[in-house]
Amino acid sequence: ISTVSLVKECLARISKYDAKINAFIEVQNEKELLDKAQEIDAKGSFNGSLDGIPVAYKDLFCTSSLSTTCGSYMLKKFKSPFNATVVNSLEEAGAIMIGKTNMDEFGMGAANVYSVHGPVYNPQSILFNGNHFGKNNDQRVAGGSSGGSAAAVASGMCFAALGSDTGGSVRLPASYCGIVGFKPSYGQCSRWGLIAYANSLDTVGILTRTVGDAQMIYDVISKFDMNDSTSITPEVRSINSSVPSFFKLNSNTDDLRGLRVGVPKEYFVSELGEPIINLWKKGISYLRSHGATIVSVSCPNTRHALSAYYILAPSEASSNLSRFDGVRYGYRSEESNKNDDLLYANTREEFGKEVKKRIILGTYALTAGSYGSYFLQAQKIRRMVKLDFDRVFKRPNPLHFTKKDSKCNENKVDVLITPVTISTAPKIEDCLTNNTSNINNFINTYVNDVLVVPASLAGIPAISIPFGVSSIDGFPIGLQLIAQYGDDDTLLGVAKVLE
Ligand code: GLN
Repeated sequence: ISTVSLVKECLARISKYDAKINAFIEVQNEKELLDKAQEIDAKGSFNGSLDGIPVAYKDLFCTSSLSTTCGSYMLKKFKSPFNATVVNSLEEAGAIMIGKTNMDEFGMGAANVYSVHGPVYNPQSILFNGNHFGKNNDQRVAGGSSGGSAAAVASGMCFAALGSDTGGSVRLPASYCGIVGFKPSYGQCSRWGLIAYANSLDTVGILTRTVGDAQMIYDVISKFDMNDSTSITPEVRSINSSVPSFFKLNSNTDDLRGLRVGVPKEYFVSELGEPIINLWKKGISYLRSHGATIVSVSCPNTRHALSAYYILAPSEASSNLSRFDGVRYGYRSEESNKNDDLLYANTREEFGKEVKKRIILGTYALTAGSYGSYFLQAQKIRRMVKLDFDRVFKRPNPLHFTKKDSKCNENKVDVLITPVTISTAPKIEDCLTNNTSNINNFINTYVNDVLVVPASLAGIPAISIPFGVSSIDGFPIGLQLIAQYGDDDTLLGVAKVLE
């Protein structure tokens, strides 16, 4: 298939469906796209591994040709002077940027209803006319915060999309939309040019239809970048590859004999719906039927992870977002110029409700009076969650060993298998909290992250793989695989068998 026809097909789908789905904030100029596609076709030979592949970027990746809004009024007209490193890497490999995708403002949310550009609708409910299992008008959310990226891939508007995963924002929408969502180990892919939500948790995430596609993108963007001070160094990458992985890079086998898979009992939370439990069991049996040994494991601190996350992420966010003061970037209120007493107040008034809530929460957790009882405690829990994972995995954590001292413990496990979400995609009207008739709604939304934040706190790789549909409403359900820090190859290898 030629690049021109591929690009035309993506554009046709965008013009047919995106008015309803709302996945894109900005689409590249059609003529420029087609010219570029023609150029690639004319070249005839393939130079890059992604030559002519149409990709989209969550609107927090800086791009110099399209604006970068983070789903916020504060950056509504912001144009970055440079590209994010991962955008450059994909471009160098030949990928074509179709456009920038919708997201929860600054990455805060799980339903993609907190965007200044409006909510993203789940393509499953749009493409099937909201008629899953005969129910009319069953409009669901795409999930957040990388909802636009997930919806664009799920509806064939692009081949792959990048998102960001701070506390599940790639895995959650992937599960709701029935596609693959991969969060690599923290530091594996450069965060340079990814506008920060919570630096110590932010990772670049990959959304595709298959695990093989995700691997193609990952192979291009997983490299050291000296512009990102938390990028995994070449030394640690080399120490990491000195420990044998269950799967060698890009191996294609579905023989799982020798693989040990852990089922962490703490993920069996009371909120889990019946269809999710059933598919989890099915996933476990499937891996067993391919030769894997299944063992029950315990990560006792899992139950504290959500509370710790909702202290740490807002704390980092409150600090990060202080730069949006109308002096350095984006929007500036005219009012602040007239009245010196107000300083930045009028400008910062334009953050959305959810973002304001997080700024207040984070600022409070960092104040002298509450630092010790909130922020510090949350950091301790984070450490305990990480140690839980270190205790269950065969491979030692490459951040704590040298090449000489890198023994695997064969009694432990290679990967964990868990659900991703507690339910299928929620109904859109249940997530639009503008009418605040249900004050519990925002707590409910935070609960959706309970199964995805532990891997984020530990910085370890995790992937959501579509594994079936709910027997109740017909909407997609994903399963999550989690591996030791740096063991992204094993994760992708097992994911290929499971998909
Ligand atoms: N729901 C989480 C939050 O709102 C996810 C954020 C993310 O991964 N970007 O913080």
